[in-house]
Amino acid sequence: MAIRVTIWNEFRHEKRVPEAMEQYPDGLHACVGAFLSKDEEIEVTLAALDDEANGLPDEVLNNTDVLMWWGHMCHNLVPDDLVERIYKRVVEQGMGFIAMHSAHFSKPFRRLTGMPCALTWGDNMNGIVWNVMPNHPIAKGIPLNFGIYEELYSEPFSIPTPDELIFATWFESGNIFRGGVTYYRGLGKIFYFHPGHETCPSFHNPIVQKILTNAVHWAAPNATGEGCLVGDVHQTTAVTDVLFGTKE
Ligand code: ZN
Repeated sequence: MAIRVTIWNEFRHEKRVPEAMEQYPDGLHACVGAFLSKDEEIEVTLAALDDEANGLPDEVLNNTDVLMWWGHMCHNLVPDDLVERIYKRVVEQGMGFIAMHSAHFSKPFRRLTGMPCALTWGDNMNGIVWNVMPNHPIAKGIPLNFGIYEELYSEPFSIPTPDELIFATWFESGNIFRGGVTYYRGLGKIFYFHPGHETCPSFHNPIVQKILTNAVHWAAPNATGEGCLVGDVHQTTAVTDVLFGTKE
């Protein structure tokens, strides 16, 4: 069965900023959707902030296996009730969540990680992404290091200690950054990946494309037990009654 991926984008910079329009004329999400669609196991839906129901009505969100998120200047326009619906889909039902670039500061990512997720940033510059966990499924087929031209994101990065640190980036300014990290939250899997500034060409980079494609496969739901994390103690009791023969 295909992995149903919804790529959500603010889709504001690409309508206003000439350099962003040049890099991503149809929007960052359309570019990501185009390379993901080359994988026949992936089925892509595009969603934007200004779409009806902010692009994520129940019928879309509830039929999404992996939600990818790009936001930058409109984080506060995302309604809190939508954030809660996303949180529940991830934690209680196992939907994957991939936060791209400035989505480190998005409401859903902060809600899922429980931390401010602030960082230091600077000009676009050259960097080297180091693959520090080459045996991870997200790093499959990725070289041990590769160059990027990206917006500087730097430590300190106020995220909780990642469950896995897969990519760490060095910048020519000397700064370093935990640019590829995972979290496991309830039944869901979460990946944050740094490249993807709106005026930089990273989404056209085949290595970045491969990483995000791998991440979709990794983040797709595979856990059973939907509803087991909602806290129904009675359900657990009933199961032990059956197991130990106190009830049929
Ligand atoms: Zn940026």
